[in-house]
Amino acid sequence: MIADLDRARQLAVNEQRLVRRHVNLAVATSLVHTTICAFYLWGGYFSATVPVFLGLFGCVWLGNVILLMAVRSGWTKTFRDPSMSLSLALWLTTGFLISIYFVETPEQSSVFGAVSTDGFRISVMMVFFAAMLLASFRLNFWKLTVLALYASGGYALVLLLAFSDHGIRLSFTVEWLQWLIFSMTAGAFVVTGASINALRSSLSGKNEELGKALEMVREMAIRDELTGLFNRRHIMEILQQQQALADSGGYRFCLCYLDLDHFKPINDTYGHGVGDQVLRRFARLVHDSLREADYTGRLGGEEFVLVLSQTGLEEAWQVAERLRVSLEKQLFTDLHPELRVTVSIGVSEYRMGEQIDEALNRADGCLYKAKEGGRNRVVCETNLDSVASA
Ligand code: GH3
Ligand code: MG
Ligand code: MG
Repeated sequence: MIADLDRARQLAVNEQRLVRRHVNLAVATSLVHTTICAFYLWGGYFSATVPVFLGLFGCVWLGNVILLMAVRSGWTKTFRDPSMSLSLALWLTTGFLISIYFVETPEQSSVFGAVSTDGFRISVMMVFFAAMLLASFRLNFWKLTVLALYASGGYALVLLLAFSDHGIRLSFTVEWLQWLIFSMTAGAFVVTGASINALRSSLSGKNEELGKALEMVREMAIRDELTGLFNRRHIMEILQQQQALADSGGYRFCLCYLDLDHFKPINDTYGHGVGDQVLRRFARLVHDSLREADYTGRLGGEEFVLVLSQTGLEEAWQVAERLRVSLEKQLFTDLHPELRVTVSIGVSEYRMGEQIDEALNRADGCLYKAKEGGRNRVVCETNLDSVASA
């Protein structure tokens, strides 16, 4: 059940995976752009020399790799946008804009013969819409507007440059008409992209809430409501895990079975509410006096179990004795000036190959001896009679 909850939680809040996928798609977009331009270079529709082409795309890919590594390494995890979507989209667009300056044939194409290059420039800018679609999943209306304006303004600038450099080869009407269509489509993408983003944001908010709810359900499934310690079911699961570790060799653990002394009279004398407070405070005392690697659970009523990992009997006895003394000294003056609480503890060590119940029963047997011996004492399984402390 806990494993199912963990799996559900993973599905609900795996934002990091979405971020990585986003960046991978951005790189795929850049790959399409590079391939188209390489094809145009080969066909003679890219008026740059091979070294210029390599220099240009070398820079584009260097930027891609830097951004990709920053995101994938988790370095951007604390940023407001961990996927660096705007930077990535602006970087890709810069690559598109520089490359379209070169997308035109000098006079004669080596592969296709003399073909008008009208429409070739916009074919490269079409890849921009893939980038914009991607950005829609992460950018809001204003950021998408910045991106669209940057692309449209940059495209206009490239056209102005191209016309001033070699306008004689270009069709004024076609190039500017295509620019206009591009800019209008970019505008339409801003509007639809912003709605996609709004939808995604609300989904991600719900996702987060779901993640928190699942976390709460998980906690409720493994914790005891009154004390916040692990409940019986979870502590039994932990014991099974410890058993598997110990059975595979090189690992030992001890069990302490705890039972508060004369707890019924505490309830009867001071009331059930005070009894509950005592249980809570005892739980805190136990929790605070153990190591991170140890586990504490409430089996029910005023009975508790400790699982002490990598611990032998002698050390476990010391832990239990320390706990017994701390409780004995603990004052509950705010609950009642005369209230004193003690605990009896039985300690056993798990023996390789046995059932968990056998170890638990031995600890329970020691606890019984501790009660029989007068309570407020620790009894360890090896020296039942001698170690008991008064
Ligand atoms: P002993 O020293 O032999 O253990 O005596 P005891 O009185 O502690 O043991 P007994 O089993 O007779 O009584 C346990 C009491 O614990 C009975 C029950 O009313 C009380 N109890 C069980 N669960 C809770 C709880 O959640 N809150 C409170 N306040 N009391 C509880
Ligand atoms: Mg009891
Ligand atoms: Mg008791």
